[in-house]
Amino acid sequence: MNQAKAYDAADDGTFERECRSLLRHSGDWAPQAGPLVVVAPHPKDDVLGAGGLVHSWARAGHAVTVVSVTDGEATDVSRADRRLIRRAELRAALRRLSLLHIEVRSLGVPNGKVRDHQNRLRLVLEELVREPVTLIAPFEHDGHPDHEATSQVTLEIARRNGVPIARYPIWTWHHTNPSSVQALSWGLFRLGTAAQRAKARALQCFDSQLSPLRRIPILSAQMPANFERPFEAFVL
Ligand SMILES: [Zn+2]
Repeated sequence: MNQAKAYDAADDGTFERECRSLLRHSGDWAPQAGPLVVVAPHPKDDVLGAGGLVHSWARAGHAVTVVSVTDGEATDVSRADRRLIRRAELRAALRRLSLLHIEVRSLGVPNGKVRDHQNRLRLVLEELVREPVTLIAPFEHDGHPDHEATSQVTLEIARRNGVPIARYPIWTWHHTNPSSVQALSWGLFRLGTAAQRAKARALQCFDSQLSPLRRIPILSAQMPANFERPFEAFVL
């Protein structure tokens, strides 16, 4: 989720309260029974956007595949091995979401360049949708070029193959306004205590996104509030 536009660090949580209030009236949603494919532009987007769903779905015995498009390697440019570090973090996070195996397809697309490498993603998704899967992708207007390019390719594959798709916002929660939230069609996947706890523990695996000196998350301290909800909200 790196390299996105800045959001208002002075936000006192009012917007999050408004979002929760608006979303409260949305209907519940769950994927169709069967395999789930979660497409993420950067490691951690998958956990932030759909970690609770991944936990619940794997626990219910369904196959889950995570397509990790880039390795988010621009986060810490001082480390030559950052690509490997972030892949290892993702695998550790997924193990915290589920003890059952979750398949990871790391595509190795350069961070920030998803638009230039859309075919790599297209080919993998075309192969995965031969099964009756549900696709989970970032929201197509998420305000980050990698998120939007990833979403557009996944939407294209879903529409061409008649595959159900739901989209998770990440940066949208920080640059949108209540009327935009209200204008979208939402489905809420409810998270039980175990799913919320697994998601929180999984998010702790992304250590390389902490400031090495101060151990402070590069993301604002308020960022997690959007991802500590007792539900995950998907655009349908
Ligand atoms: Zn991202």
